[in-house]
Amino acid sequence: MLSNLFKSSPVIYIMGLLIFSVCSFMPKTDNVGPIKILIVGGGSSHDFEKWYKEADKNTLSKDGLADVIYTENVDSISYYLRDRDVLYLTNNQPIDDDRTRRDIMAFANKGKGLILGHAALWYNWKDWPEYNQILVSGGSRGHDRYGEFKVEVVNEKHPVTRGVPKNFSLKDELYYFNVDPIGPGIEVLAAASSESSGTFPSVFIVKHASSRIVGIALGHDEASHELEAYQTILTNAFMWAAKREMP
Ligand SMILES: [Zn+2]
Repeated sequence: MLSNLFKSSPVIYIMGLLIFSVCSFMPKTDNVGPIKILIVGGGSSHDFEKWYKEADKNTLSKDGLADVIYTENVDSISYYLRDRDVLYLTNNQPIDDDRTRRDIMAFANKGKGLILGHAALWYNWKDWPEYNQILVSGGSRGHDRYGEFKVEVVNEKHPVTRGVPKNFSLKDELYYFNVDPIGPGIEVLAAASSESSGTFPSVFIVKHASSRIVGIALGHDEASHELEAYQTILTNAFMWAAKREMP
């Protein structure tokens, strides 16, 4: 019936072909609308409100890139995760609730993205070893005293480091990030080094089976959050973790 119609009318046939072609090139639904992000902050030693609720939220909200929710109430994580594309953990306050922990793991297993910032790359929770083992593939137990150090992009071809200067320096805490051999492993994108302590992963991907996870060890205060290189890494990381097409 349909083929008869096409035979009888070449115009309809051509229109059909056109519609098919347009549909084939339409963007995937992943690329529609702002990236829905949940930032979790709170804990010790950092001004989470200033640098994550305000600074990073502003960076990520530019040009309508993201729709950002910030919370320090860890009991609300499960509720917010229902419609989020990427979870940004920056907190060192405990996440005690088993259901919340399971929901975070399930979020990653569903293929949703995770960004793990600065304080969340620490070994914060002795009673939740799966967090460091599965989601971080390691962690930090120490850092250089706050001060200037160098960062070198070691993988310039990855979407997360696109547009980031090959070398830059900043004031921050150089985290002694160690890879857990039992974890899924990491791929280092940028490394931080100081003469006294050596070289450590600074920006990296965790090779999780389902989720795109980026660890960003930088981020103690304004020296990172207001730095263009950091802001580019952050924006790129969210686009990559949310599987958005990069310009
Ligand atoms: Zn810090």
